[in-house]
Amino acid sequence: MSYDFPGYPYPYAHMTVVDGLDQMEYPMLCNDNPVETFKDQVELTTHEIMHTYFPFMMATNQTKYGWMDEGWATIGEWIQSPLIYGDSLVDEYGIGDVNYFSGKEADVPIIVNSTQISEERSQFINNYAKPGFVLYYLRDMFGKDKFRQLTKQYMDTWKGKHHTPWDFFNFFSSATNQNLNWLWKRWYFDWGFPDLAITNVVTRKNKAEITISAKGIRPVPVNLHVEYADGSKEKIHYDFSVWKEKSIFKIKIANAKTVKTLKLGDLYDVDVNKKDNTWTAK
Ligand SMILES: [Zn+2]
Repeated sequence: MSYDFPGYPYPYAHMTVVDGLDQMEYPMLCNDNPVETFKDQVELTTHEIMHTYFPFMMATNQTKYGWMDEGWATIGEWIQSPLIYGDSLVDEYGIGDVNYFSGKEADVPIIVNSTQISEERSQFINNYAKPGFVLYYLRDMFGKDKFRQLTKQYMDTWKGKHHTPWDFFNFFSSATNQNLNWLWKRWYFDWGFPDLAITNVVTRKNKAEITISAKGIRPVPVNLHVEYADGSKEKIHYDFSVWKEKSIFKIKIANAKTVKTLKLGDLYDVDVNKKDNTWTAK
């Protein structure tokens, strides 16, 4: 499983999972409290096992930069849990909280040191799902194989060296030879929220032009679910780099079908207002 994600072979001979009193990680040891279902147990255990890499193997400062390990543990449980349990498991850990609290007072920039955040909700969204989403969207942008290779290279480069957030940003920019400041700035440093909307739809002679607007500054992928009048369905996908330099993005459909309904967004596309994500033909 570790070869699939994070793409780095599990570095020790064994792992012990204790039916204990907390949800807490130690090197090669998970202390799991009893939970209701097997699904919950899988999600909790994959999360805690990811901590063997982040922060322990990588030696990041868990106290000061909580997101540098919890973000990886969160994407880890999102991806690994269905590999163990099966595809019927959909891990929603932290997602509802980011949808709800984004752009509100609790939503401080991720880069604020964890030691300075006293509010529990701020700690939770900043350390877990917000950085988890960025990693999820990077994986989408680079593709699973390339992201796996980058992650392994990142781990080999920085393991045990106590790297900082700036080393993390610099690694992914340098290793891909891309200027990723647009996403670091808007996801880690700026105040803001993610909010895509379908703002205009023009249909004519079985063609459609759909305008998607980014009403918030935080970039998220475009996943547009299209249902046609003949009952057929399609998903149109663009990764979050479409928002690198613009806040309006147009999608043209010219497949001789009539668009009946449109719905924007998947579970892992955080969005503070989903009311403007749908459209129905009159
Ligand atoms: Zn954790």
